[in-house]
Amino acid sequence: MALVEVRNIKKYFPVTKGIIDALLAREEEFVRAVDGISFEIEKGEVLGLAGESGSGKTTTGRLCVRLIRPTEGEIIYNGKDIAKLKGKELRSIRRRIQFTFQDPTSSLNPRLKIGDAIGDALRLQGIGSTEERKERTEDVLERVGLSPAKSFYNRLPHQLSGGQKQRVVFGRAIILNPEFVVTDEPVAMVDVSIKAQILDLMMDLKKELDLTYLFISHDLATSRHVCDRIAIMYLGKIVEVADKDRIYEDPLHPYAVGLMSAIPIPDPKVKKTEAVPRGEIPSPINPPSGCRFHPRCPKVFERCPNEEPELRNLGNGRQVACHLYDY
Ligand code: SF4
Repeated sequence: MALVEVRNIKKYFPVTKGIIDALLAREEEFVRAVDGISFEIEKGEVLGLAGESGSGKTTTGRLCVRLIRPTEGEIIYNGKDIAKLKGKELRSIRRRIQFTFQDPTSSLNPRLKIGDAIGDALRLQGIGSTEERKERTEDVLERVGLSPAKSFYNRLPHQLSGGQKQRVVFGRAIILNPEFVVTDEPVAMVDVSIKAQILDLMMDLKKELDLTYLFISHDLATSRHVCDRIAIMYLGKIVEVADKDRIYEDPLHPYAVGLMSAIPIPDPKVKKTEAVPRGEIPSPINPPSGCRFHPRCPKVFERCPNEEPELRNLGNGRQVACHLYDY
């Protein structure tokens, strides 16, 4: 059974109306950040969520841990729909599902000591005595590589490097012993030299704590190292899902093909054959008709602007939403 099952989830954000819009009684508009997507994550799996900025990846991640409430749809976690949970029940589920924010600097309170930043979740959940919480926090500091823990406990965020702050973020995520972690661009803000260390930490924690990850990243080269499967998002929709090797070696959706061809290849002798997607991602307020990718698609044909392609199973765990594969 899947640990997380997302069923036809949508998240629409209302666009703030100006005075003129109100005077002219213009209809309310919505940013369709996530527009009806479904996927599953097996226990122990790392599912990568990839796509350009503005594709809806981060909103999807926030929905999965119920940092925000969906407009529609179900989020089944361990057999229970958490989409509509509130209050105590939601707080209790939050012990088992965690989120790491992209920018460790802005996600840490500059006036809060590192030990308190990590251990505060225990206090908020009413877990243990002060001494027990301190002990558990020190254990977590060691576990995320901030050792010796006592020397890090009282430091403030500005006294840490970018990589150390990212370790604090992971410490804060694991302190409640979660089962499922959504990690949003975990290495986007750290130096290239320590990227590998943070990814190793993430995978070590997965092994030690039996974690399941949703790994959000626009960097497909990085995702390849850590993910089991990849889902590609475009303008609020999932357009392709497949095992990592299959999607990197033989992407099918023209958008996925374009993204893969944009991955830098260190060997200058290797020539790229496919073009990266042309132009900018359109506005999610008024997405293009039919296939949302059609204004940028090199394979567009008559049917594409008129009919929205469904995400179809092509076998072997591959799903694609493109009329080229409607057979
Ligand atoms: Fe391109 Fe048409 Fe496929 Fe959309 S449905 S990706 S426009 S070929």
